[in-house]
Amino acid sequence: MTDDHVAEGATTPVLVLNAGSSSLKYQLVVPESGAVLAKGLVERIGEAGSDVADHAAAMQAMAGRLRTDGVDLDDVRLRAVGHRVVHGGPDFSAPVVIDDGVLARVHELSGLAPLHNPAAAVGIEAARARFGVPHVAVFDTAFFASLPEAASTYAVPRDLARRHAIRRYGFHGTSHEFVSRATADLLGRPLEQLRQVVLHLGNGCSASAVRGGVAVDTSMGLTPLEGLVMGTRSGDVDPGLHAYLAREAGLSLDEIDTVLNKRSGLLGLSGVNDFRELEQRLAAGDTDARLAFDVAVHRLKHYVGAYLAVLGGIDALVFTAGVGENSVSLRAAVTEGLEELGITVDRARNAARSTAARVISPDGARVVVAVVPTNEELAIARQTAQLVG
Ligand code: AMP
Repeated sequence: MTDDHVAEGATTPVLVLNAGSSSLKYQLVVPESGAVLAKGLVERIGEAGSDVADHAAAMQAMAGRLRTDGVDLDDVRLRAVGHRVVHGGPDFSAPVVIDDGVLARVHELSGLAPLHNPAAAVGIEAARARFGVPHVAVFDTAFFASLPEAASTYAVPRDLARRHAIRRYGFHGTSHEFVSRATADLLGRPLEQLRQVVLHLGNGCSASAVRGGVAVDTSMGLTPLEGLVMGTRSGDVDPGLHAYLAREAGLSLDEIDTVLNKRSGLLGLSGVNDFRELEQRLAAGDTDARLAFDVAVHRLKHYVGAYLAVLGGIDALVFTAGVGENSVSLRAAVTEGLEELGITVDRARNAARSTAARVISPDGARVVVAVVPTNEELAIARQTAQLVG
């Protein structure tokens, strides 16, 4: 390979796609530099009155918008397309180049992720028809394929679990992996030597315990409903709640699913799911907002404590995603009263506004508390580029 080739390879972008049932998020990113050439969102796909009939039309709409932004996809020498796929089930523990078999499998895994995988499969099909470059699937579950059996196994009958692939899979893996590596970079310490608890707090929320760069526990399970309190999801409830709601409230299975996924969490407790709005209501003295905040913080402390025990102590506690990166009050509340465990934040450092990865604990603290921005698109672009060479 000539130097020219190397230089060219290092500047050609990867198109990162995240297809939802009615939306298509896209980003054109150069994996080596992290430069974002363009990004956007096509919405209302297939909805009544929308001019975007299906995902194939969404690819066209995306290409049109990119052209308006000065990027012609036919000229840009795309290296590959990286697809975010929520559920890799028991099959996929790493990114894969997509062929017909992989696509069929992503579709077949829809039973495990009915809200996500069908859309990803349709998005992949449309993108393969439009872009004649390698396509790679990057799975949200892959980073957690390493969970020890004791952490990934539910105590339900084994034959039933085997037959239906029931286990804890975990989600947001691309983010947890990216952030745990970035934290090692920030601290200037080898990843292999660090025990970390990573809190990904956005609309969806999850915690992970990472030892030496390998995930050993996580709060999301068979589905992204388990664990922390989220914008609209309940997180942990007594599993007996389902039967109780069916018997006492007369709810169907689908209705229970909807209540716990779409009408619970911060929304169910306070009437708002957006954290900024929640903070505004808190400031105005809203007692429902206060309870929602307190329940979310209580649950977070549960998981921090649990993972401290799982890891036998930690070196770093890391906050990431929309809420984790931005909410000074949440970070203060989660870490409050944990001094005995070596966890404390410096008030001024926590309150300082920044978009960079940063340490917010005092110098010399036993546990480093850090804020590390996540970048799932860049992580997907890098994994895609690595795979296609
Ligand atoms: P994500 O899913 O990572 O995009 O995160 C979305 C969540 O982050 C929403 O609940 C937002 O309200 C919250 N968020 C974004 N910016 C801020 C901010 N400056 N302060 C508090 N929460 C924020």
